[in-house]
Order: sequence, then C-alpha cells, then structure tokens
Amino acid sequence: MDLTLDPTVAEGYTSKAQRSRVITETWAGQNLYCPNCDAEAVDAHRPGKRVEDFRCPTCDRRIQLKATRGSHGRKVSNSAYEPKMEAIRNDEAPDYTFIGFDPEVWRVTDLFLVPGHFMTPTVVEKREPLSSDARRSGWVGSNILLDRIPEPGRIEIVREGEARPREEVRATFEQTAFLSEQSVDTRDWTSAVMDCIDDLPVRPGETFELADVYGFEDRLADLYPKNDHVRAKIRQQMQVLRDEGLVEFLGNGEYRLRWVDTRDVS
Ligand SMILES: [Zn+2]
Repeated sequence: MDLTLDPTVAEGYTSKAQRSRVITETWAGQNLYCPNCDAEAVDAHRPGKRVEDFRCPTCDRRIQLKATRGSHGRKVSNSAYEPKMEAIRNDEAPDYTFIGFDPEVWRVTDLFLVPGHFMTPTVVEKREPLSSDARRSGWVGSNILLDRIPEPGRIEIVREGEARPREEVRATFEQTAFLSEQSVDTRDWTSAVMDCIDDLPVRPGETFELADVYGFEDRLADLYPKNDHVRAKIRQQMQVLRDEGLVEFLGNGEYRLRWVDTRDVS
C-alpha cells in the first residue's frame, strides 16, 4: 500500500473539501483493498451516488470513504439521518473507512475501517435541523459516534503512517463478521457490551469478571431505557461473545479477552 497522495488530481477544484475528496478517492481507488475477501482492489462507484463510494468486485461489499486533514475526532458528521437509519434497519449500511492525512506532505497517516455491521442505532446521533435561513432549511443530518464503536469494530489499516499487514486486517474483520448475521437490535447490544469491555483496563489475553461488566449497568440502561433486564442482556451477550471466540469463559464469572488486538501488536 503506497501511502502517498497525489494532490495534482484535484487541479481545477477550488474548495478545500472537494479537493480532499477527489485526492483521497483517487488514492483509495488505487490502494484500498477488500477487508472481507482476497480482492486486492475495490472499484469506484458511480459518482453522484453518495451512499456508496466503492464496491468490491468479488464479494460486492460496499465501502464509503470519510477523509479528513489530521485525524478524526470522536464524532464524524455524516449523511441525512432518516435514510441512514433506514439503511441500518434494512442491514444495508456500507463499511466506512476513515482516512486521516497530512496535507503538508500529502500522505495518509491513519486509516481505519468500521464494518457496516457495527453501524447500529446506538452509534448514530441525530443532528439539529438546519436553521430556517440555511439553504437546506430543516434538513436533518447525522453524526457517527466513533467513541461508541468497540475496538474490534475500528479496524486499523494504516496506523501512524504504517500500513498493517492485510492478513491481520482481514483476520480482525473476520472475527466479528458473525454480527452481520444478527438482527440489528441484537448486534446493537453485542456491540455496546463489547464497547463496555473495551473500557475495562484489560488487554487481549488478560482476564476480567462478569461483575466488571455489570459495572456498566447504568450506562447500558441509559442507552436502552426500554430494557428492564440489563444484567440478563449482559449475560446473554457474554454468551454470544464466548460462542464466537471473542472471550473465553474460565468459570466462576471469569473471562479472558480473546479479540484481536489492533493497537499494541507490532
Ligand atoms: Zn470483497
């Protein structure tokens, strides 16, 4: 993967946002590969179709790009809220790649992919409608809340200016692919419980207790106010994670974290 961007492809564009888009899209068309199969390139989709920017020619996976100068914050503004929620409910959310680049040297510095099955109602925030004097008055956009996506759902492809091995990226993707088989409500819960485990001071290979996860009961009750049985849901999700090999059950309420570490491996 060549991390060099070519700013000359955006000659003729004056707006900074358009230039960023053209430059990073051109780069992705030449360098991005499918995380889900062994396709070494993805095809640019028809322009004007904003929901899906790239498509894998082999497995048909759709990938949307979000690029920024510097690095992405905890919240990323995204498309119109209602169509996005409908796509999520219909299991049609694409994968998202978040590209951070350095415009001083025109290089991709960070790139991570959030599989579409991690796009759930909990990670999408409704924005305030645009004010009445705005050109698109009343339009309601959305934010993607990156800090609500657990680590296995933020698959690093480039970290601090270094591309990670493809086989590692694909192994991380594969580990949570089971979520795409679940209903949106189920995977929303699975992902939220994973995000709680993420916040424990535990690295992959280390152990934690069910009681530690119960410590997030209030947070989960806030996210799912209609659910009166948060602890039962936590236990149910721990079984899902155990069945899928993401945690290992050691007995007596103790677990070992088994998900692929995308941060500390070298
Ligand atoms: Zn593919």
